[in-house]
Amino acid sequence: MTESQQRQRILENWQTVSEEVAQAATQAGRGIDEVKIIGVTKYVDAETTADLVDAGCTMLGENRPQVLWQKAESDALASKPITWHMIGHLQRNKLRRLLRYHPIIHSVDSRRLLDAIGEEATTNGEVVKILLEVNISGDATKTGLDPETLRTILNQDPHRWIQIDGLMAMAGLGTDQQTAGEQFAAVRRLRDDLSKSSGLELNELSMGMSGDFSEAIAEGATMVRIGSRLFEGVM
Ligand SMILES: *Cc1c(COP(=O)(O)O)cnc(C)c1O
Repeated sequence: MTESQQRQRILENWQTVSEEVAQAATQAGRGIDEVKIIGVTKYVDAETTADLVDAGCTMLGENRPQVLWQKAESDALASKPITWHMIGHLQRNKLRRLLRYHPIIHSVDSRRLLDAIGEEATTNGEVVKILLEVNISGDATKTGLDPETLRTILNQDPHRWIQIDGLMAMAGLGTDQQTAGEQFAAVRRLRDDLSKSSGLELNELSMGMSGDFSEAIAEGATMVRIGSRLFEGVM
């Protein structure tokens, strides 16, 4: 595949996925601008990632902090208008360097991480936007906070420099689309409940990937994290 064929293929993938996301939103009676597509670029290098940005996808998700900052610093991407989203497990010792790129952190999965973000944000004097990751499937191998811990966190004194925008969730491994839909509905109900008890809006729901984004949008997702569908035919 030549470079220009690859660019073309990624552009087509982006357009197809964007249309499907818009359709799912419309079918759910929601506005098409209520759902943001986070292009998950963990499968490809910086140059291929740049093709996706050029196609129109400017919100990018990476699951490894080192890869996120390497890409953010790369010649191919450094000057492009990108909002970074950290979507994978994050170790506290990676935080300082990561925060230079002002990512929205979807994967806050422990109180220790939350407190560490609070400390760094205070040092920097800059607000960090985060989502709390919920383990909705009850799958012990999955990361994420259980609902009770979430409630405790949201009811304790907030960190001054952390803005908690909502929740992030993944369907359990190997779940079919219908079960995924039920899990997403449970996340939305949990959010509604936590929002009421904490007084925080928690507007963002980051849920849905290549195989289940339509179900997630039907249940209220405001951010879908899509990777493989965008790179079909090029990886
Ligand atoms: C890889 C990944 C995605 C994207 O998955 P696809 O099935 O390739 O769309 C979404 N969220 C997280 C946390 C991921 O690690």
